[in-house]
Amino acid sequence: MKTSSPKFNPSALLRRLGLEKINDGVFDGEWGGRGPAIESVSPVDGRVIAAVRTASPEDYERVVQRAQAAFATWRAVPAPVRGETVRRLGNALRAAKADLGRLATLESGKIIAEGEGEVQEMIDICDFAVGLSRQLYGLTIASERPSHRLMEQWHPLGLIGIISAFNFPVAVWSWNAALAAVCGNASIWKPSEKTPLTAVAVTRIAQRVCRETGADPAIFSLLVGDGPSVGERLAADRRVPLVSATGSCAMGRRVAAVVASRLGRSLLELGGNNALIVTPSADLGMAARGIFFGAVGTAGQRCTSTRRVFVHESVEGTLRKKLLAAYRSLPIGSPLDPGTLMGPLIDRPSVERYLAAVREVRAQKGRVIFGGEERPDLPGGCYVTPCLAASRADMPLVQEEVFGPLLHLIPYRNFADALAMQNAVPQGLSSAIFTNDYREAETFLSAVGSDCGIANVNTGTSGAEIGGAFGGEKDTGGGRESGSDSWKNYMRRQTNTLNYSSSLPLAQGIVFGE
Ligand code: NAD
Repeated sequence: MKTSSPKFNPSALLRRLGLEKINDGVFDGEWGGRGPAIESVSPVDGRVIAAVRTASPEDYERVVQRAQAAFATWRAVPAPVRGETVRRLGNALRAAKADLGRLATLESGKIIAEGEGEVQEMIDICDFAVGLSRQLYGLTIASERPSHRLMEQWHPLGLIGIISAFNFPVAVWSWNAALAAVCGNASIWKPSEKTPLTAVAVTRIAQRVCRETGADPAIFSLLVGDGPSVGERLAADRRVPLVSATGSCAMGRRVAAVVASRLGRSLLELGGNNALIVTPSADLGMAARGIFFGAVGTAGQRCTSTRRVFVHESVEGTLRKKLLAAYRSLPIGSPLDPGTLMGPLIDRPSVERYLAAVREVRAQKGRVIFGGEERPDLPGGCYVTPCLAASRADMPLVQEEVFGPLLHLIPYRNFADALAMQNAVPQGLSSAIFTNDYREAETFLSAVGSDCGIANVNTGTSGAEIGGAFGGEKDTGGGRESGSDSWKNYMRRQTNTLNYSSSLPLAQGIVFGE
């Protein structure tokens, strides 16, 4: 394992992205923020990158009112014209990709390739949204009444609250905001308080683009603050018809309850406990690579990270050897170094939770085969070695999402048992099977197979293309974002009956009077 000490001065990067030592964290066309400032501390080396002023209750109120006014005009702009603003947003993100990717790395600790990949995801979703801006189709339905037309239309919904997590500091905003914008809405973003700088940088880019196109910049509003001060307000606010919330299951439970109590809509993208099945016919080299990226990529801090591997007992030894070889040669260190494959965890509490989980492996009579230690030789206190554990499906720890690079290896004998164990957790986000057996692959994807929102064959659990609908079942919250028909979440459907006859027949043949 390699160690490297980051020698990187972020001042020039911050300047290029329009950031200063202390930044306003509230945007509604104007910048402000009268709440207390929070420091963005880099997990790369524990140093403060810059500070951001949070939203006060008065800021919150002003932002919502401004966003309402922006919505009132934006909803009447033709959708393809709205798409032009999003097209330019995609281009502006292309131009800023290297800088924004680097800032995402500095703030979240993900390696440069993944930081840039995150910005690429934003660019991709902008392209997708531009196409959508000409395809917000409704159906025409055969009417049972003569000379009647039955049809549906999709109209803009209103204000979209976007609560995002630290591990995808900008991509999740774009999944929501780009679609919301072409659908005619104004969005209000509450980013993670752990990654406020990337949010300010992205909002500055969106502001510039709106200035160019003449769109009201308050369609991309920003409220930096924590869960209680901003997130809870958005959840409780009747003026916000949809709250899209990405984060832990605990947060989702709270947001869902508050939004439901006012009969609002929530779109929940919550925790995962993703499993991968390796069957006797699998290409074990490919499986090992898929598991390795899934378990240690982003230091195990993806919602789709591979956390459990069910491997057939006949190939367990071989797979384990391949994984051990990969784990032993894993370059851990500064994510700013292009040779690094695993950077730090997000902060010290996260490290403590990870180390406690490794202790739990032993307490629950599992066995640590590799790693699970701190790396005090690296700066900032957030680096660890990934942990490979020989576990059992009945260990309570295996039911939980540990948000770090802890992987449970669990042998199985019958395919049906592997499937049952895979599905026997509260979460239902991502799943995968490595097999060359057609029956196993099809069973895995069938109604009696994986119960997750994402199910893959011969590719891992982690990393999804924007073209598909993204999200999961059970405690993962049931939401779908990004591709396919996820745009429908951001619109209200209206069913229209048009009568072009000179009589008034009623539905179901009801005769009323006469
Ligand atoms: P978190 O739940 O701590 O915070 C997420 C966001 O919710 C933050 O912006 C936070 O301020 C806000 N928040 C917290 N309490 C709130 C409340 N009561 N009301 C409103 N907002 C509140 O999560 P995190 O540590 O930032 O991210 C990691 C978690 O997110 C993991 O569980 C991971 O699986 C999940 N995640 C899921 C997806 C997905 O698409 N399914 C994507 C990324 C992350």
